[in-house]
Amino acid sequence: MAYSNRNQQIVELFPKLPNYRLAQIEEALFSPEIRSWLDVSTLPKAMREKLDKDMPFMSVTVDEIVASIDGDTHKAAIIVEGGQKIETVLMKNKRGMFTICVSSQVGCAMRCGFCATGKMGLIRNLEAEEIIDQLRLWQQYLVDNMGEDDRISNIVYMGMGEPLANYENVKSSLNTILKHTDIGTTRITVSTVGVLPRLEQVLADEDWPHVRMAVSLHSADKATRKEIVPTSYDDFLPKLADWSRRYLERFGNRRHHLTFEYVMLKDINDTKHHATLLANFVNRIGTVRVNLIPYNFTDCGFAASTIDTITAFRETLDKKGVVVTTRRTQGEDIAAACGQLVKKNEK
Ligand code: SAH
Repeated sequence: MAYSNRNQQIVELFPKLPNYRLAQIEEALFSPEIRSWLDVSTLPKAMREKLDKDMPFMSVTVDEIVASIDGDTHKAAIIVEGGQKIETVLMKNKRGMFTICVSSQVGCAMRCGFCATGKMGLIRNLEAEEIIDQLRLWQQYLVDNMGEDDRISNIVYMGMGEPLANYENVKSSLNTILKHTDIGTTRITVSTVGVLPRLEQVLADEDWPHVRMAVSLHSADKATRKEIVPTSYDDFLPKLADWSRRYLERFGNRRHHLTFEYVMLKDINDTKHHATLLANFVNRIGTVRVNLIPYNFTDCGFAASTIDTITAFRETLDKKGVVVTTRRTQGEDIAAACGQLVKKNEK
């Protein structure tokens, strides 16, 4: 399994470190009350001091955290090594617990026309610990600001970046989080634009933990998809259908399903014709859920479908037996909603 940078650094600092010490260190990292190496009481003093001198306890630092007016959504701008900013979001979910949305890259190379991050281009991949530390940051934030019983129950890899374009680090972050928290595979979702070679790797890779997958489909019409998702190509849809069938054969069950995300763009992909194409596409695959995402404003020439249009679109899908949900938009007032995460005040 790939080493994260942090583990590598630890091993370099302490060659011949016994495994139980490494386990103690990892456990301390996931104890939100502990905020400094000096407070890790399970380690000998000399070791704590060396860690404190040579290794940051957090790989990222908070620039600012803002909350939505209703208090249900919190967005953190955090600074990573190199000085760039990324964003991560904490949202109260339906079950009264919290879902966090993490970024996997600084920027993104995929250039989806409706997404603010796409405008930045790719700056770099995040290291595994920079992804993990977005979770640790929110765990600490909950301890400091929320009730005693409040905890993070779900993680979505839907912040900045294309997770499967940072495959190894995302995989390593998933395995570490699964090992050190009680968040299980069905409570973590990795969302991808549909990088097919990496999706194939997900199927073949024994170390890939089988968390839920969501594919950003956005249109079942070849030309429309290419227009809004420029990384698409002519035979993307049949290839995705083929992959999806094989994925469901191996992992599909009531708790472990596959989702297609679909951002509703006015007059682009929201007509009855598009709904019919989508339903037929989905029904040829099997039980795939469709998640309709209301478009969040990003100043890039698209408009949101009206509520009536979304309702009508849903009805067409419903009638054809497609399982469909509409995503609740959260945090729009702080630009924390899907596709609104973008680096501001660039240095
Ligand atoms: N790169 C991953 C993660 C992107 S963010 C992916 O493509 O799936 C998660 C979801 O938000 C994706 O489905 C993405 O297409 C969607 N999204 C991007 N910009 C949006 C916007 N302005 N409004 C609504 N959803 C948006």
